[in-house]
Amino acid sequence: IRGTIALVGRPNVGKSTIFNALIGERKSIVEDSPGVTRDRIYGEVEWLTQQYRVIDTGGIQLENQPFSEEINMQVDIAIEEADVIVMLVSAREGVVSDDIAIARRLQKSKKPVILAVNKADNESLRMNTYEFYELGLGDPIPISGTHRLGLGDLLDEVVKDM
Ligand code: GDP
Ligand code: MG
Repeated sequence: IRGTIALVGRPNVGKSTIFNALIGERKSIVEDSPGVTRDRIYGEVEWLTQQYRVIDTGGIQLENQPFSEEINMQVDIAIEEADVIVMLVSAREGVVSDDIAIARRLQKSKKPVILAVNKADNESLRMNTYEFYELGLGDPIPISGTHRLGLGDLLDEVVKDM
């Protein structure tokens, strides 16, 4: 394993879809610890002959905790465990306040962050990528999990930072 990639982002941006697209069928289940549910959050992806671990932080959930606590924990785990963090946002919804909160938290870490704009399913949605420059995480990369677009370009950027 050459390094670890963590997927972070608010619910519904497509983390699990991208995770599954990256890892194919090779999913693994890890154990639960008290108050924390972990389901199929670790997988592996091969890119340019190298193997990488992928973490879907959205699969790590806290019971009976406010959403803000849960997402903060997910981001903290990404910062702790990953060599490169991929923050996912949605071209269909644009920038929302939870995106800004997550981006701020990531900026405070020293880990490299790649910003991926998911749901950029067509040319007009790909045009919505530019507004994400305001998150201050560099060049947004348009991708589409359901159409499997842009994943190679995303991995190219990720492995540059490993
Ligand atoms: P998560 O909560 O971040 O893990 O998001 P999911 O992977 O569960 O996806 C949330 C919803 O967005 C699902 O209905 C997906 O089918 C949908 N979705 C994921 N990727 C795309 C995409 O590239 N384009 C579109 N249009 N929908 C997507
Ligand atoms: Mg999910």
